[in-house]
Amino acid sequence: MSTSTSKSGKVYLVGAGPGDLGLVTLRAKECIQNADVIVYDHLVNPETPGWARDDAEIIYVGKTPGESSSSQQEINALLVEKAREGKQVVRLKGGDPFVFGRGAEEAEAIVDVGIEFEIVPGITSAIAGPAYAGIPVTHRAENSHVTFFTGHEDPAKTESAIDYAALAKLGGTQVMLMGVERLEAITSEMLKQGARQDLPVALVRWATTGRQETLTGTLRNIAQRALGGGFEPPAVAVFGEVVALRESLNWCEKRSLSGKRIVVTRTRKQAS
Ligand code: SAH
Repeated sequence: MSTSTSKSGKVYLVGAGPGDLGLVTLRAKECIQNADVIVYDHLVNPETPGWARDDAEIIYVGKTPGESSSSQQEINALLVEKAREGKQVVRLKGGDPFVFGRGAEEAEAIVDVGIEFEIVPGITSAIAGPAYAGIPVTHRAENSHVTFFTGHEDPAKTESAIDYAALAKLGGTQVMLMGVERLEAITSEMLKQGARQDLPVALVRWATTGRQETLTGTLRNIAQRALGGGFEPPAVAVFGEVVALRESLNWCEKRSLSGKRIVVTRTRKQAS
């Protein structure tokens, strides 16, 4: 316990889950409700900042059409500045803050200046996305390992951190975040490195939300299909035999209301 009489600030790096409000953790909701400041970005369900107190300051740092998003340095500086004012700051991020979410960089910036922080893990789109498309990332009969990788990098880049030859050899389930835009280059690189042409692939966009869409194919044809169908980000891509399980396990998109927009006209607070 601090002996200081002045209130000291703290930063909570909070995962908001993949989109479905039911997939936000109780701890995340509690942090949002207690926050003085909420800093959130693009992939966070826009309803979640609304759980904050009326006097909370809510700051969007994602991309708005035609404008660029705040730089990572600006976000780090903002978190530090608000915490130094003695505030409880919630940095709300899509999915899990430590899975391709730059949460680690923010935590480092906070720890560097000696500010207290807490991590609230969230349900990552890397697992929930496939699950909502009826694809389990593991199946005892199919695979014993799962790899998460980012498709953000250009595979032609000579110093690419991703060893596609190793990925092709490793097999198992591979889940790619970011990079639907580079799917053509990525799949050709995988094929070049010896991955099977008929390897099942699924793309799930806006997973767990009312806008969820899934596209399936093989390593050979998925890029063409995505291009033809105008399949845009955000999406996760799943490569592996487990994709075929969707044929029998596709529970979500088969629900009668799937794809329809449900408008809730009153919150529970207003109704009571
Ligand atoms: N920390 C996040 C990932 C951030 S990187 C997480 O754990 O989910 C951003 C990428 O996440 C997107 O490009 C996309 O690949 C994926 N993503 C996030 N939310 C998604 C969603 N609802 N549906 C599909 N992909 C999603």
